[in-house]
Amino acid sequence: MLLCCYKCGVRIVPGANSFIVRIIVISNFDGIIEPQNNKDLKTLLREIEEEVKGLPEDLIEEEIFKEREFLLCPRCKEIFLANPFSKELDDLEPPESIPPP
Ligand SMILES: [Zn+2]
Repeated sequence: MLLCCYKCGVRIVPGANSFIVRIIVISNFDGIIEPQNNKDLKTLLREIEEEVKGLPEDLIEEEIFKEREFLLCPRCKEIFLANPFSKELDDLEPPESIPPP
């Protein structure tokens, strides 16, 4: 099976270093349910059940939990870990090259 880095596409030859980035996204429920039009909790839960009735379970689950994996070469792993969400780096500049691990 031919393996390639998800980010840059470089081929990962057998025996070479590669890394799996596993991303898990979980709904962050803080335990607070805002009152809606003075409905009690039972009524609210019944309405939610009605809303999701008939929807495929995997679609409902995907709304609260999702997991994905990406295979990266060593260079792309370092770049990913340095700034996983591609945020602005202010005055910082990314290095031209990254030394091998
Ligand atoms: Zn790569």
